[in-house]
Amino acid sequence: MTEQSLNLAEGETVIKLDKMNKWYGEFHVLKDIDLNVTRGERIVICGPSGSGKSTMIRCINHLEEHQAGTIIVNGTPLTNDLKNIEYVRRNVGMCFQHFNLFPHLTVLQNCCLAPIWVKHTPKREAEEIAMRYLERVKIPEQALKYPGQLSGGQQQRVAIARSLCMNPSIMLFDEPTSALDPEMVREVLDVMVELAEEGMTMLCVTHEMGFAKQVADRVIFMDRGEIIEQNNPHDFFENPISDRTKLFLSQIL
Ligand code: ADP
Ligand code: MG
Repeated sequence: MTEQSLNLAEGETVIKLDKMNKWYGEFHVLKDIDLNVTRGERIVICGPSGSGKSTMIRCINHLEEHQAGTIIVNGTPLTNDLKNIEYVRRNVGMCFQHFNLFPHLTVLQNCCLAPIWVKHTPKREAEEIAMRYLERVKIPEQALKYPGQLSGGQQQRVAIARSLCMNPSIMLFDEPTSALDPEMVREVLDVMVELAEEGMTMLCVTHEMGFAKQVADRVIFMDRGEIIEQNNPHDFFENPISDRTKLFLSQIL
């Protein structure tokens, strides 16, 4: 793949799932998922626990393998071809609920690891880039500390900065605020809002409906392995169609 595929025009499809299915053994976890995401689009995915949100997100950067249908990211189909998987992983950043920072490395080392080892960026340049992103998430002064010395909100901002150091064209978030103490949720959401305003293509699994209303172009509701409905935030929250969506919203709002 060349750099060309990164310069897709706005409005162009960057993620396409077509009749995508996944099983865990006998259990049919994702059923005929169709999804088109265009460049710069901000999507919030919600739904009950166990509905397949994490699995779908993880299939998009091949942390999980799908068994039927297609997933195409930035024009590259996700098959078992390692080259394709590596290309997609380089271009798709991911933030998890539990940060997944390396505890024995400093914040700065966490941020430099992938650029140095995957992209072969020279160490000094990687450190400069890392400091730039740590400034953007407003914790440059924590660069030489270890993750364990930081609050949960700070650790999650490090995790976001670390992803951004790889210069991804798409960011996936899987409940990035749900392990945080309430007073730390806002500082992480603020970073995500800024990213959204800068035009990053984002898929966010979250139950932060304020965030959905503020930045989402589209809200997707999943239940039992299916996309039940999707709409712009206004119509999604004001006029949900399916009874399952109505029930879900009545429980979380
Ligand atoms: P959500 O993120 O919406 O809570 P998940 O994608 O984590 O849902 O899980 C969807 C379903 O798949 C759940 O029933 C869960 O128990 C099951 N599941 C998730 N991961 C695995 C796995 N590695 N092996 C078997 N079943 C799994
Ligand atoms: Mg999940």
